[in-house]
Amino acid sequence: MTKKIHTIKGSVEIDSLGLILPHEHLFTDLRGPLVVGYAQAEPEGVVWVVGPFLADAFAAGATALVECSTVGVGRNISILQNLAEVSPIHIIAPTGVYRDAFIPPWLREINEADLAKLWIDELTEGIEGTSIRAGFIKLAMSDDGPTALEIRNLRAAVKASQITGAVIASHTIGGRVTNEEMDVLEEAGLDLHRFIWIHAQTESNIDVLKEAAQRGAFVELDSVGAPHQSQKDLIETVVALIEAGYIDQILLSHDAGWYNPANSDGLPNEGFRGYTALTKEFLPALSARGISEELVRHITVHNPARAFAF
Ligand SMILES: [Zn+2]
Repeated sequence: MTKKIHTIKGSVEIDSLGLILPHEHLFTDLRGPLVVGYAQAEPEGVVWVVGPFLADAFAAGATALVECSTVGVGRNISILQNLAEVSPIHIIAPTGVYRDAFIPPWLREINEADLAKLWIDELTEGIEGTSIRAGFIKLAMSDDGPTALEIRNLRAAVKASQITGAVIASHTIGGRVTNEEMDVLEEAGLDLHRFIWIHAQTESNIDVLKEAAQRGAFVELDSVGAPHQSQKDLIETVVALIEAGYIDQILLSHDAGWYNPANSDGLPNEGFRGYTALTKEFLPALSARGISEELVRHITVHNPARAFAF
């Protein structure tokens, strides 16, 4: 049977997909879940702001986009539905929860088994009373390392992943915290081939990235086109991972966007960064560096398809 991804508009066979952006943001609220008006906006306004950027991404070759804004930082399924209606790009929504400081009260008190059940329901039945199934489990670790609640989240995520097949993707800064996290995941029984290290570029020692890949993890370099990231360095990181034989483990994305409901114009404070630097600038630069079309396709089409497939 052909493997499928879960999108806002239903299941899609992975063989029908081209380039997939494995880590982007469409609608994000970093004020946290306790703020009045959290994650709320007029859908029409969001479509008006974000729609053109989705159209650009589609024109530039993206066929699917993974929305990484999870519970705690603004996940809003009805807004995502509105965006999916106006774009041919397949949008994938997360279950899971953001890092400790953003976990809403009702998810702080729940036990590991009930949390796993909630996430399994979102992955197999639907999110918040809809029939929209989550496409993966998104977590985040505090910068100093997993807190007790984050360890509970990791363990619940492993249960949910083992039952559903969903991949676990976790925002993790630096190799020390990632190694701690991967130990927790393995101890709970996860095959690390079902784990994505989000923000792997935050670790400067390439050997640490190679070790994570060696353990099975996807190493996600998600600062493509970001002004704070040297694109030259990022290209060299990709090349080093390819040369070390970890072609299957590399993911590339922008971590860009997004509609920000905290501002009246809906724009993020630093401006809306679109989703086209990968296809327009980064991949041509990789080709110029000697990486074949076939390898580029492997990294941008096959790897994310494999990661998010059920
Ligand atoms: Zn992100």
